[in-house]
Amino acid sequence: MNLTEHFTLEEMLHSETAEKKKIENRINAEEVNNLQKLCQKVLEPLRAHFGKPIRINSGFRCKALNEAVGGAKNSYHTKGRAADIPNVPGWLAYIRDHLPHTELINEGSWLHVAL
Ligand SMILES: [Zn+2]
Repeated sequence: MNLTEHFTLEEMLHSETAEKKKIENRINAEEVNNLQKLCQKVLEPLRAHFGKPIRINSGFRCKALNEAVGGAKNSYHTKGRAADIPNVPGWLAYIRDHLPHTELINEGSWLHVAL
């Protein structure tokens, strides 16, 4: 299922940890809606500005998956409001200066952005 033109629900749900640990990573309609907003307002504009596909390292995590990966309790990932994307030069500054966000964290090799 496409959330927006260039982002799918499947890539937002995909997780190697979930596969390995047989966690279902089940999402509800409200969380899908949140993911869609994140794609519309942050990820699509970022992709359009730099003209490059964005690989999603981590999108939605159900509570069990979030625990399994050691995510912060009540992480925005558990609400469909966050994504981890590669830390490509220029992306952090562009999000910071031009795109809506509630959290923007430089994690080294990736960026955590939440709306
Ligand atoms: Zn994150």
